[in-house]
Amino acid sequence: MSSDSRKIRLILELRRHGVTDTKICAVIERLPRELFVPEAFLDQAYENTALPIGCHQTLSAPVIVGRMSQALELNERIKVLEVGTGSGYHAAVLSKLCRRVYTIERHRELLEEAEQRFNQLGLSNITWKVGDGTLGWPEQAPFERIVVTAAAMDVPPVLAQQLAPGGLMVVPVDDGVGDPRLLRVRRDAEGLETEDLGPIRFVPLIADPNRR
Ligand code: SAM
Repeated sequence: MSSDSRKIRLILELRRHGVTDTKICAVIERLPRELFVPEAFLDQAYENTALPIGCHQTLSAPVIVGRMSQALELNERIKVLEVGTGSGYHAAVLSKLCRRVYTIERHRELLEEAEQRFNQLGLSNITWKVGDGTLGWPEQAPFERIVVTAAAMDVPPVLAQQLAPGGLMVVPVDDGVGDPRLLRVRRDAEGLETEDLGPIRFVPLIADPNRR
């Protein structure tokens, strides 16, 4: 199957899963996902599947990236914080949909590779750092949007504090009791309002610097 046919199949898959935003579909269609996947998995670059990226981490499936990006209700004036840079693919998608992306990754090895990809693609509106994303990025807060790409035990309180009034945070939550859920948290005048966007699976969000 040609690369174009694989991309068309992927876009149909995105639509089938409710990713109907034409701008998001166009970005996913155009962004070369093959740059973000290890060589051994190149033939799966346009499959709707999560792929290993080293450090026991994964690059999320395109439908997940599409659903989370759509839930963020982005536009070109918005500043986004992403927790969990991983391969850099989701940050690259976001960079085409908003004004600026700040992204944090706890594994330096992954971040160095992501940085090379951002440079190769000329994505000049992404700022990155190594660190514990559960602490957010106080110097750059507040953020109009926050996306967490690893499963938290609960909505991370520091990130909630760094959400601007009217802002949205999309975060997978797995408390180990119920099924893992994708939540959208909105900061309004009364405080935080949480919406359940359905089941989801993610690698865990890890705050402990000594854990691999
Ligand atoms: N967004 C990524 C991409 O497009 O490739 C995929 C993210 S992967 C599912 C989750 C990432 O979150 C991993 O790279 C992991 O190391 C990172 N992570 C987990 N806990 C973190 C923390 N406390 N701070 C920053 N990154 C964290």
